[in-house]
Amino acid sequence: MSSTANRTLDIRQLYDLLRAHFGHQNWWPADTPFETAIGAILTQNTAWSNVEKAIANLKQANVLDCSSMLKLPTGKLEELIRPSGFFRQKTERLQLFCRHLAKHHGGELENLMTQDTDSARKELLSLRGIGPETADSILLYGGGHASFVVDAYTRRLLDRLGLLPGKGSYEEMRNLFMRLLPPEPELFNEYHALIVSHCKEICRKRKPTCDSCPLMANCPSREAFST
Ligand code: SF4
Repeated sequence: MSSTANRTLDIRQLYDLLRAHFGHQNWWPADTPFETAIGAILTQNTAWSNVEKAIANLKQANVLDCSSMLKLPTGKLEELIRPSGFFRQKTERLQLFCRHLAKHHGGELENLMTQDTDSARKELLSLRGIGPETADSILLYGGGHASFVVDAYTRRLLDRLGLLPGKGSYEEMRNLFMRLLPPEPELFNEYHALIVSHCKEICRKRKPTCDSCPLMANCPSREAFST
């Protein structure tokens, strides 16, 4: 890494630069919180375009609610979500999630979300197949909780900007945002969407286009990618 970057960005400045460059992001549109949660589980290890096909199948079969999904034979659910990959494992995870909702929250995700953020997060993380990224996606997008979502894009960007905290664990990265930002779900939603846009369009895994990057003046990695 080079030491010629002008200065290190802080988390708020990073947001401001990305927002000014990419504009408002309208992200993760879903018809219901339950659909959002199902999408968060289905998107594990696959592209969102595959999840969209699976969600479309579930909608077409009219089973995108907890009780309908639980009534579906396992083989039928597997068939409907097959486009999302790992369909057997994901069917099991969906069924576990729905059974939990039915048993403890009357089948309504909204009831789980009436808890404070830490309690709801702890409960989601206790379910097999729901890790921190999935839990935070469900909390933020499905429950309107201020729980920052960290993904591979976030790690890449923080690493390249020299902002990766500690050992770069999920919780360390999440805490960096949680500590330094006001607890506003809309802000967390927008911020994560901006990171995704930036990493898909400019700070790509291979051959990032640093010359067109709004963060170039503050990035210690830019010279490593200059040709
Ligand atoms: S695109 Fe280049 S300059 Fe921009 S953040 Fe990524 S590595 Fe740094």
